[in-house]
Amino acid sequence: MTEMGTLKGKTALVTGGSRGIGRAIALRLAAAGADVAVCARQVEAAQTVAGELQALGVRALARPADVSQTAQAGALIEAVLAEWGRLDILVNNAGITRDNLLLRMSEEDWDAVMDTNLKGAFNCCKAAGRSMVKARSGRIINISSVVGLMGNAGQANYAASKAGLCGFTKSLARELASRNITANVVAPGLVPETGMTGELDDKALEKLMTQIPLGRPGLPEDVAHAVAFLASDQAAYITGQVLCVDGGMVM
Ligand code: NAP
Repeated sequence: MTEMGTLKGKTALVTGGSRGIGRAIALRLAAAGADVAVCARQVEAAQTVAGELQALGVRALARPADVSQTAQAGALIEAVLAEWGRLDILVNNAGITRDNLLLRMSEEDWDAVMDTNLKGAFNCCKAAGRSMVKARSGRIINISSVVGLMGNAGQANYAASKAGLCGFTKSLARELASRNITANVVAPGLVPETGMTGELDDKALEKLMTQIPLGRPGLPEDVAHAVAFLASDQAAYITGQVLCVDGGMVM
């Protein structure tokens, strides 16, 4: 597979593309030739990424959007379609954590995590699904987590949202297969170089490292390569799958 140009002529949207894993995914899709839109609640960082994408020679868009809000997610997809006329690749990457033990977890923290991580993907898939069905082609890639498969003490809300994404994606894969649309999950392991895990102390990191057979933490780029593959024509026969990019944590 040649690296450059495999996604030339395609358009992509990466939610939460303003930093961390989402930014790496956006850059990787652009490196493969796709035009890439990114969204985040804070649009300034998304605009910076759009500049980086344009520097790779593709078209780029940055939009403010809170994907947990149905109207904002709808407007986001509409904006991409209005600008480029098509959306080939949707990457639902926007996600948050609100960690606490179950007995201390507030209803608000439960709802916030479910609304962004799970309902956000529902909102964007529903809005983008129509145009993909019409086009009779599309790629949906939802970013889950190994925590959705293994569970994690202190992350019941997050783990539920990420496990939910797996069932959601497999259902979409079945519904949309006849329209030549694939839907897959990428489940990263520990990717410490991002905002999400920024608060882990050295001791917690060390303990997690003992669970990684490949003996190193993941890089945002490790996740991005997997997403780019699933977005490509080479992955046409792969749907409804959960691909762990985790150094072997889950096997
Ligand atoms: P991050 O650095 O905190 O970035 C999260 C991104 O999502 C930001 O661009 C953020 O921008 C955006 N976002 C958050 N809430 C949003 C909302 N409601 N609407 C739109 N955008 C929103 O996180 P990350 O570590 O890169 O994680 C990215 C994804 O990978 C998440 O789904 C996460 O669960 C998953 N993951 C991460 C790890 C890890 O170790 N880092 C492991 C497994 C899975 P704004 O704040 O401006 O909205």
